[in-house]
Amino acid sequence: MKIAAVHTHILEHRLETPFESASMRFDKRSHVLVEIVCDDGTVGWGECLGPAQLNAAVVAAYAERLIGRDPLQSDLLWQELYNLLRDQGQRGLTMTALSGIDVALWDIKGKHFGVPVSVLLGGRVRETVGAYATGSFRRDGVDRVTDNATECAAHIAEGFHAVKIKIGFDVAEDLSVIAAVRDAIGPKARLMIDANHGYTVGEAIALGQRAARYDIDWFEEPVIPEQLDAYRMVRAGQPIPVAGGETWHGRYAFRDPLATGCVDIAQPDLCGTGGFSEMRRVADLATLHGVRVVPHVWGTGVQIAASLQFVAALLPDPPRRDAIAPIFEFDRTPNPFRQAILSRPIEHRNGVVAIPDGPGLGIEINRDALAEFAPGS
Ligand SMILES: [Mg+2]
Repeated sequence: MKIAAVHTHILEHRLETPFESASMRFDKRSHVLVEIVCDDGTVGWGECLGPAQLNAAVVAAYAERLIGRDPLQSDLLWQELYNLLRDQGQRGLTMTALSGIDVALWDIKGKHFGVPVSVLLGGRVRETVGAYATGSFRRDGVDRVTDNATECAAHIAEGFHAVKIKIGFDVAEDLSVIAAVRDAIGPKARLMIDANHGYTVGEAIALGQRAARYDIDWFEEPVIPEQLDAYRMVRAGQPIPVAGGETWHGRYAFRDPLATGCVDIAQPDLCGTGGFSEMRRVADLATLHGVRVVPHVWGTGVQIAASLQFVAALLPDPPRRDAIAPIFEFDRTPNPFRQAILSRPIEHRNGVVAIPDGPGLGIEINRDALAEFAPGS
């Protein structure tokens, strides 16, 4: 089996109501898929985290090195592609593009051997996973406090037992949002807060100290990810467990944050940190340091399926008699192509997601939807 072609598919949808986190504004949803075609007809799918057009350009730069190669040599191909752009990359687009390729290679590997990727990763530990609803961005033209509270109450009514909301804008207003959301979801639901690195150290500590009374599971990306000292100060200066890592791409980027105690929970993104190949290494590093792994998930059904395959094989953690149940990030923000690109959508039932058990990622792509959501269509 040899790689015959590498394609990218950009998907776009302009939003009726733009929304924003503390670090990014969304006027449209845009993601890019990677399709690798083999000479025996086997097709693998992957996805890259981040800007679609830029990722597609980097995938195209990698592609010529893949043609004619054995897709089952995924570790060797990973290293060769990483070496190719090391001097220009090490994290960011060079890694997100490589991630999309690696996920597609593992999809091919699973289809070739007729098993889900989770079996190749060491075996399925679970068939379902509890999900948390990600949303509650700041939307244009509405009162953020009541808007977030209403949205989170709807997630709970729909069966979710956990929600994550966006903060990092203004400490006083953020605290009003947290209080209103806790009131709306009741005392039993789990609540996480994500600042998208919008705070200074002082702001993050002030927020964490005052928000702890609302029973927060984790405080995500309190400060910018380059400032590891700042992470450690936030972790020491307030009582809520600190999470982060969606922009720490690869084992080298995770080494110092894990070894120096920056986070309680590591959040590598499978489609950003280097695909299945590198995700395994990051998870092993986290285990060394007693840090839980809760993957970051922000993409289409391809990324959701891939992340589910990874979580299916994630060993019970901590490694004691009673582990903490894993929890899966489930994006509830508007994105009409997220599930439309799958022949069978991946949905939750009462906040629980069944992990696909078909070969590879366990999904089939609806090519009509790829055409429908192509730019300019
Ligand atoms: Mg986040």
